[in-house]
Amino acid sequence: MTDAAATERVDILIAGASFAGLALARALAASLGPACRIAILDRVPVAARLGQADTRASALSASSRRVLQALRVWPLLADEAEPIRRIDITDSALDAAARPVALSYDNALPAEPGEPASHIVPNTALLAALARALGEDRSVRIIAPAEPVALAAAPGSGAASVRLADGRTFSAALCVAADGRRSFLREAAGIKVVGWRYAQTGIVTTISHERPHDGVAVQHFLPSGPFAILPLVGHRACVTWSEDAKEAGRILALDDAGFLDEVARRVGGRLGAVRLEGPRASWPLEMHLARHYVAPRLALVGDAAHGVHPIAGQGLNLALRDIAALAECVVEAMRIGLDPGDASLLERYERWRRPDAAMSALAFDGLNRLFSSNQPLLRTVRDAGLGLVDRLAPLKQLLVAEAAGTTGELPRLVRGEMI
Ligand SMILES: Cc1cc2nc3c(=O)[nH]c(=O)nc-3n(C[C@H](O)[C@H](O)[C@H](O)COP(=O)(O)OP(=O)(O)OC[C@H]3O[C@@H](n4cnc5c(N)ncnc54)[C@H](O)[C@@H]3O)c2cc1C
Repeated sequence: MTDAAATERVDILIAGASFAGLALARALAASLGPACRIAILDRVPVAARLGQADTRASALSASSRRVLQALRVWPLLADEAEPIRRIDITDSALDAAARPVALSYDNALPAEPGEPASHIVPNTALLAALARALGEDRSVRIIAPAEPVALAAAPGSGAASVRLADGRTFSAALCVAADGRRSFLREAAGIKVVGWRYAQTGIVTTISHERPHDGVAVQHFLPSGPFAILPLVGHRACVTWSEDAKEAGRILALDDAGFLDEVARRVGGRLGAVRLEGPRASWPLEMHLARHYVAPRLALVGDAAHGVHPIAGQGLNLALRDIAALAECVVEAMRIGLDPGDASLLERYERWRRPDAAMSALAFDGLNRLFSSNQPLLRTVRDAGLGLVDRLAPLKQLLVAEAAGTTGELPRLVRGEMI
């Protein structure tokens, strides 16, 4: 595929300049400096994405915060990060007169009292902070717009090459697919995915509210799916909601007043009067898991590797744990002059990360099925379960630590250490 004269050689080629791609580049550049030439390709320039209204906010776990702190990205967004102090969970019918709390827990890390197990961060703040931090790294080039159209990794060549739609070609010792759920590089490498679509649509918007949220995140389990109220800085919150797909179509077509009514009806009375503060956006919800995370001279990270139901707000957190593990494998190899695209290195990465994503995808799928049901027997059983967990402090602490991503074999970045 390649014409050597027209081919640009780099060490690492990343497709996708979003959260996973930018964070990986930052991790490699911060540890290896100019010794590692990195190119990132995206069909959309980062500045153009930042210019688009994006109402989404993400629950970043303590493990993600540690990664971003180690990469010196966190200080660039800390002002916009709202710590979650407590999580309240309710389970009620859509038209219930009240939404009583069935389970409530302090969201502090058991081993480090006072350290919140998660923060809510607007997606645009995170993207802007990653792009700003990368601006310091001279070894990184972002090439956009750029659309990969072919991938080849000839055995024995020591490199994979990627051709772009405009004819340019890049070759690299390692290519990384950080190009999201419809990853071109994953498909070009012939890696299949297992997964399914949910009969649910994700709806997101930002609201402002009369009463303070006091750092409390709320998850209302409603019959057609979870409705999360994620506190933002000030008297504002991001509402992330999984709705029956047909009903979502109706709600999304309403005018602002009708849409606000639907939001307020689900929020309940706890925040006082609410107003819309941002655009509404929607996503089809699906679960997918790549059958393999690696192929010759290729590694998948983030949504290219896995997509999970947003019920627990963990997709981005999994992505940051992927990049922490892959960066550690690559940095350790390159520091002693080894090939970053070596098959044994890639196998180590796959063994490290795929089980975590597989377990998470199945667990969130199960939670969604359990809670998105109005079946009376199921409701009774799950409400008894919530009540039981509510009375078991050690179990609650375990759940908090698990959601914070601070258990298991942690890459150094996840422990807050540079590689
Ligand atoms: C409704 C909803 C709510 C969510 N809430 C949370 C939450 O609270 N917490 C959390 O942790 N996660 C959450 N997630 C998941 C999270 O948003 C994703 O896991 C995260 O965006 C994945 O990042 P990524 O960098 O892997 O992929 P993406 O952000 O999808 O980025 C992919 C990049 O690749 C580029 N690209 C794609 N195809 C090509 C191509 N062919 N050529 C060139 N470039 C290409 C795109 O332009 C984009 O820049 C939520 C998801 C949804 C849908």
